[in-house]
Amino acid sequence: MYDVAVIGSGVIGGLIFRKLTEYKLSVCLLEKAGDVCMGASKANSGIVHAGFDALPGTLKAKFNVEGNLMMKSVADELGVKYRENGSLVVAFCEDEVIKLKELASRGEQNGVKGIEIIGRERLKEMEPNISDEAVGALFAPTGGIICPYGLALAAIGNAMDNGGELKTDFEVVSIEKEEGGFTVKSANGECVTSRAVVNCAGLGGGKIAAMIGDEIRIGARKGEYLLLDRESGSAVNHTLFFTPTEKGKGILVSPTVDGNVILGPTAKEQADGNVLTSDEGLAFVSKKAGEMLKELPLYNTITSFAGVRAYSERHDFIIEESESVSGFFHCIGIESPGLTASPAIAKYVVEELMAGRYGWERNPSFNGRRRPDYFFKDLTAEQKNAVIAKDPSFGRTVCRCEQVTEGEILQAIRENPPARDIDGVKRRTRSGMGRCQGGFCQPYVAQLIARERGIPIEKVTKSGGKSYILMGVTK
Ligand SMILES: Cc1cc2nc3c(=O)[nH]c(=O)nc-3n(C[C@H](O)[C@H](O)[C@H](O)COP(=O)(O)OP(=O)(O)OC[C@H]3O[C@@H](n4cnc5c(N)ncnc54)[C@H](O)[C@@H]3O)c2cc1C
Repeated sequence: MYDVAVIGSGVIGGLIFRKLTEYKLSVCLLEKAGDVCMGASKANSGIVHAGFDALPGTLKAKFNVEGNLMMKSVADELGVKYRENGSLVVAFCEDEVIKLKELASRGEQNGVKGIEIIGRERLKEMEPNISDEAVGALFAPTGGIICPYGLALAAIGNAMDNGGELKTDFEVVSIEKEEGGFTVKSANGECVTSRAVVNCAGLGGGKIAAMIGDEIRIGARKGEYLLLDRESGSAVNHTLFFTPTEKGKGILVSPTVDGNVILGPTAKEQADGNVLTSDEGLAFVSKKAGEMLKELPLYNTITSFAGVRAYSERHDFIIEESESVSGFFHCIGIESPGLTASPAIAKYVVEELMAGRYGWERNPSFNGRRRPDYFFKDLTAEQKNAVIAKDPSFGRTVCRCEQVTEGEILQAIRENPPARDIDGVKRRTRSGMGRCQGGFCQPYVAQLIARERGIPIEKVTKSGGKSYILMGVTK
């Protein structure tokens, strides 16, 4: 029997899983997909919000500010790229400047440090490409950017290195409360038993809650994005938001931590988790982003994508032990700023809700440090030569656009949590994320996956399930 089973391997489940391995426990992470981090944590804006947006007194406000303060050290420990680039909420008229003052005062109540309202001239110095219509902005120096799936992957990998067990293709379909714990059953009949369970199933969180008799409705709201090539990376320095309206935060224009520019998201209610983009949504994104900057190099668009927010009708995070079933914890309805809040939520759930109550002891052999997520291309010539001397596979470039080497791809397939398909390699190495979007490197990546996993190349998938890329041998 496990001490704790965590359901859902997004950034919330991933960081809770890692935090649990700081204690002497047996822990498992259950994920319905074939790879980790396949929900909202895979497709979002990647912004580490400063914390002026959430209403004071909410869990969103508390964990946003705490998570923002923790993010740098967590990213350092896990070797994940993170940059405190600062954010600007831009006003385009005097009424919006009044709104900025409200946001500034909310930020102060929430405990955000260093926020200030700046005028047109300073804004232009900070963002030379800002629209001439902009009249001022709210500057939050503690706003940052991070790779969201990079954070989740590193946390899960680190937890596995510390003894945590991952079970993918484990779709939880029923949960039985028994003497001393729970039996959690998957769609393919596999069972795990556990003393405690943490529900971090994102959009599936309401269904999991219903399995123990709790009624929590989780809604779905899609956000669509455009991504520009790294060539356009200098178009913007800070994360730029429009002044929020009653309809919400609106779209943003921001650099990403990998040097691209991200535009979006839209916000549209839907019944399910489908992540299809639409002409209408993407046209809206490009039109609004065009209003923010003088020059927006849309011709450098390399891809579009969508993510789906899981929100609760409480309009706040739900982080609590079930009222009816002892030992069952919910961490659901985690919409934005859930990525930012994730380290603080993990600390709260494990240290404050669970550890004391169960009398857990610290794990003295826990090592929170992970190999830095370095990219071969960022090394100096001497460093590159030293790496190639040890392992010649780093001397063979597989993805030309992002300059990813064979060594990095093999590492992604071999280390925790192992990549099993083309998109899994892509998220771990950036191979296929450049201008040609995998046109050149995909066949080589497929060969490496087939060889490493000992499967025929026709069995290699793009993204798990039946997403095969080859039908069979023709010659
Ligand atoms: C468009 C958009 C933009 C956003 N921008 C930001 C931002 O800039 N900054 C920020 O701080 N936050 C942002 N967020 C919010 C952030 O992405 C989420 O708060 C966070 O990713 C939620 O993580 P999670 O682990 O709760 O859910 P998820 O990442 O969705 O993970 C849930 C996991 O549970 C699994 N699962 C579901 N059902 C089952 C089952 N029955 N059995 C087993 N596994 C199951 C899923 O497959 C999934 O892997 C944004 C969200 C969206 C959608």
